Amino acid sequence: MELGADFIDVELKAAPDFLPSLQEKKAAGCKIIVSNHNFETTPSSETIGSLIAQILSSGADVVKFVTTAQTITDVARVFQILSRCQGPTIALVMGQYGLISRLLSPKYGGFLTFGSLASGKESASGQPTLSDLNNIYGLRRINRQTKVYGLIGKPVGHSKSPLIHNAAFREIGYDGIYVPFLVDNVKDFLDTYNTPDFAGFSVTIPHKEAALKCCDEVDPLAKAIGAVNTIVRRKSDGKLIGYNTDCGGAISAIEDGLVGITGSTGESPLKGRCFVVIGAGGAGKALAYGARDKGCKVFIANRNYDRAKLLADSLGGEALSLEQLNTFQPPRGAILANTTSVGMHPNISETPLAKDALRNYSLVFDAVYTPINTRLLREAEECGAVIVSGFEMFARQAIQQFLHFTGVGAPEQLMRDILVRSL
Ligand code: NAP
Repeated sequence: MELGADFIDVELKAAPDFLPSLQEKKAAGCKIIVSNHNFETTPSSETIGSLIAQILSSGADVVKFVTTAQTITDVARVFQILSRCQGPTIALVMGQYGLISRLLSPKYGGFLTFGSLASGKESASGQPTLSDLNNIYGLRRINRQTKVYGLIGKPVGHSKSPLIHNAAFREIGYDGIYVPFLVDNVKDFLDTYNTPDFAGFSVTIPHKEAALKCCDEVDPLAKAIGAVNTIVRRKSDGKLIGYNTDCGGAISAIEDGLVGITGSTGESPLKGRCFVVIGAGGAGKALAYGARDKGCKVFIANRNYDRAKLLADSLGGEALSLEQLNTFQPPRGAILANTTSVGMHPNISETPLAKDALRNYSLVFDAVYTPINTRLLREAEECGAVIVSGFEMFARQAIQQFLHFTGVGAPEQLMRDILVRSL
């Protein structure tokens, strides 16, 4: 106080001992924050309401209450309370589920938020760094009108999506913020964050299938695939519309790769080709249905043959075991798409198919994007195939998503540059 602090933060329990003398001695303009920390839960709205009344009656200039989230829906309760508070209030939620409280509190009128000086120097669990708050999330731009977008998943901490979408919003002057939503139950999440403010979502593992069931309308291709990775809240009626841009991203990248070989004819260069997908999980389904839709003859190869058969049967294709794939002789002009994680960092010396078996393909695609140039792609190129990286799929799914979110074309080069730098 003697050094001229603008704010002095006093814990509520200690307030009776300190506040009277602080009020006497404090300089004009110095504000007293009275704070309460709950390290276990986020209590009911009624309990938090009583706590705020107690803090105010202690003589606080600024109210601060900090709770702990057991799940992301706890944070919505804090936002509701914060938006109703009259005087200056700091409301934050600790823990990994509470990160959005630190990013979105300015939107609900929060007096200030907290960031750590560096990673590893957090003073409370779930705190982002000041540099991330400013440079990734553009905290100073957030206001009550800012539209909220984000990635629903578990885990979400590793995702590059906040980096690219926030930078793209800034680039086109769009009033939006994109945050990571760490979600256990996607239905509970969407039921809770159901206002027009929460305008769109990316969806990742393990929620792509559950998310589809929560949508009011689903794009036909996403419905066939059985998974959505993009949800938009329609402005006119608030309905949730689901899309699968993983599929569009990968298929358009492969089509562009083929145009490089055949030249453009007006129709999809995939039409009539043999398309072999390795893997029968989420990405495998997206690629297989996308290829079938373009008129390809689809083969699914998977280590679990039954799973390959199930997917192949669902789209009128054929199943192969991985052993069969090694000696499979596709017709000229065939495409091979790896959708397993084989070859992904840190196992970069692995490959899903022996080099000799790659000679029969005109184009080889790998969904893996760390590293960008996998062993599979290097060996395919040595065999003379055109190669398409999972980087293209990732960049394009994000670019298509951005268009769904904003209705405006994405700043593509910027998004690609940021993504390359981040990998
Ligand atoms: P997923 O749903 O778990 O499916 C993975 C598939 O790969 C399954 O069919 C699995 O076989 C098979 N597989 C896993 N490990 C294998 C191994 N060691 N050998 C042979 N087969 C194996 O995962 P996903 O979401 O589809 O993702 C798969 C890959 O695609 C990941 O590397 C992911 O990063 C990448 N991806 C990239 C993008 C992009 O934008 N570039 C988008 C989505 C996914 P079983 O059926 O026997 O389990």
